[in-house]
Amino acid sequence: MDAASSRTPGARQRACTRCDGLTDRPVLVSDVHQNSGPGFSVYACPDCAPHFPVLPDVAALLPGAGERRAR
Ligand SMILES: [Zn+2]
Repeated sequence: MDAASSRTPGARQRACTRCDGLTDRPVLVSDVHQNSGPGFSVYACPDCAPHFPVLPDVAALLPGAGERRAR
């Protein structure tokens, strides 16, 4: 066996969701929650991470959040 041919990704490596490249310094850019299943995290490499929008605050997505309280 050729050692160079067995290039299995390390445990800490993640595939960048933008460029599909493997990175050993993944940056969490999105957290997907699913009703059925554990959900998953989306990672990008450090070069692509700045191209993703900042994760929205969950509280900001709620109706009426940041606005005057009706009651
Ligand atoms: Zn990338």
